[in-house]
Amino acid sequence: MVLLLTSCAKDLITGKSTLNYYKIEDEPKLGQQVLEAQTAELKHQKKAIDSKKNAKDVKRIRTIVKRLAKVSHHPEFPFEAHLADLPIVNAWCAPGGKIMVYEGLWDPKEGLIEKGNDAQLAAVLGHEIAHATARHVTESLSKNMTIAIAGAVASSAIASGSAEGADLFGQMFDQGMNLFIPSYSRKNELEADRIGLLYMAEAGYDPREAVKIWKKAAKGKKGERTSIFASHPASGERAKQLEKYLPEAIKVYEKRQAKVSDYLKRLPHQGWPASVSDTFARHP
Ligand SMILES: [Zn+2]
Repeated sequence: MVLLLTSCAKDLITGKSTLNYYKIEDEPKLGQQVLEAQTAELKHQKKAIDSKKNAKDVKRIRTIVKRLAKVSHHPEFPFEAHLADLPIVNAWCAPGGKIMVYEGLWDPKEGLIEKGNDAQLAAVLGHEIAHATARHVTESLSKNMTIAIAGAVASSAIASGSAEGADLFGQMFDQGMNLFIPSYSRKNELEADRIGLLYMAEAGYDPREAVKIWKKAAKGKKGERTSIFASHPASGERAKQLEKYLPEAIKVYEKRQAKVSDYLKRLPHQGWPASVSDTFARHP
């Protein structure tokens, strides 16, 4: 009983207790390990990360992540974002805010989002960040733990790289490619959709773009097991939920946009910045 009481975390939306054997303070360490392992693996596969040719996109990703992180439930997470030259239509945010985007996300033919569309990129990043702030990885690891390694042992199993930890974490990797492709429960996906929608709206990105791309994701090819289409299955329920929460998100977005224009009116500034919203993000 004591074990359960000490291993509960709060659900971000319902406020109800959820089972989680990990301490929130340990999540960044866990994410750091994932990032380091993935960076090493990509190097091993001779795939570039944050390459010069992608400098502009890396900058875009980091600007968007900064804005989303600030309005998220865990702005204190050590967020960090990278872009890998890999034709995979996916992105992930590991525990504690370590993010990897694969270039294939905006592939003109197979991709999910339009290249250069910040709101669509923010929709994907907001959704992935929500998985991290709602602690879905450690929640699902905790659920899968046997009672033998529960509690104190479990909370350090992964951080210390023990066999049990490695084994559990191994379930979240695509075995053939050694890539971190987390798969979440339907409940967790719906939760990340809803939280992500509000994050992007609060950060100043039009939430209508999210509904557009998640509808597209539901229609995408399921064959590629590493693609976002496979890990985010088609579901009428999902589209329905997104549409249900859209009016709430639009309200948040419009309120924020009004704040931005009010702020600009008060700015004793002559040369307008290229991106109004970015300036607001830097000087809230
Ligand atoms: Zn997801």
